[in-house]
Amino acid sequence: MAADHQAYSYPQDLLLDRVILITGASDGIGRALALHAAEHGAQVILHGRNVAKLEKVYDEIEALGNAPRPSIAVMDLATANSDAYRSLADELESEFGRLDGLVLNASILGDRFSIEQYDAALWQQVMHVNVTTAFALTQVCLPLLQKSDDASIVFTSSSVGRRGRAFWGAYAVSKFATEGLSQVLADEHRSGNLRVNCINPGATRTTMRFEAFPAENRDALKRPEEILATYMYLLGPDSRGVTGQSLDAQ
Ligand code: NDP
Repeated sequence: MAADHQAYSYPQDLLLDRVILITGASDGIGRALALHAAEHGAQVILHGRNVAKLEKVYDEIEALGNAPRPSIAVMDLATANSDAYRSLADELESEFGRLDGLVLNASILGDRFSIEQYDAALWQQVMHVNVTTAFALTQVCLPLLQKSDDASIVFTSSSVGRRGRAFWGAYAVSKFATEGLSQVLADEHRSGNLRVNCINPGATRTTMRFEAFPAENRDALKRPEEILATYMYLLGPDSRGVTGQSLDAQ
């Protein structure tokens, strides 16, 4: 049976006037969430590394008709330095003055090798993109989130971030670290208006999933648009006070 948050139903204006930054909004789950959040009133900041893909999502949101106009934040997480994080936070501060939601969704898969064979440079890259950049972005965004009356950070986990599985290498370890980062941060913000949680999206029909399971029947998987209720729950007012949790989107 679906958990309450998976079956959460919400009004059209659930996210009205909320400013929400979504990383990896150019594709997959991040893209679907950006569209859906905008459709429900959010002022969405679309983060990604590929300008053409981000502009396409921007146009799709514009085409919705009555959604707030989104913004685009281009930053390659593999190469961004501390100045890039600082200037992104400064731009958000001057344009919006606060953040109500931060969804740390961007990740890379790396290779599916045993620990014995795993390439050390790739290991570092996966840990960097999946964990260190989530820390860095969270750190520069915290002052903006603390200006919100009702702020929510959503980290992105995976089932292999809760129980290790052979050949999932750095990706699995990065998701354990993400769960840890989420728990530490949640505990540091027990009082105040900021909640911090993790979502495990579960098997979803995206490019990353195809990379991981090339032979799988894609039609059997849920589309990103079908797994968004838990994200909406955590980003909207009904989850106020819910923190330090790791929820399954399906
Ligand atoms: P996709 O590969 O479809 O999308 C990943 C997003 O992250 C894209 O927007 C991609 O940009 C962006 N991204 C990757 N690397 C960088 C970078 N260096 N700089 C900036 N942006 C970057 O993945 P999913 O939608 O499937 O995954 C979303 C999240 O859900 C991930 O955290 C993943 O680990 C997690 N997850 C997914 C599952 C699934 O079955 N799909 C299951 C469990 C967890 P670009 O478009 O340029 O590639």
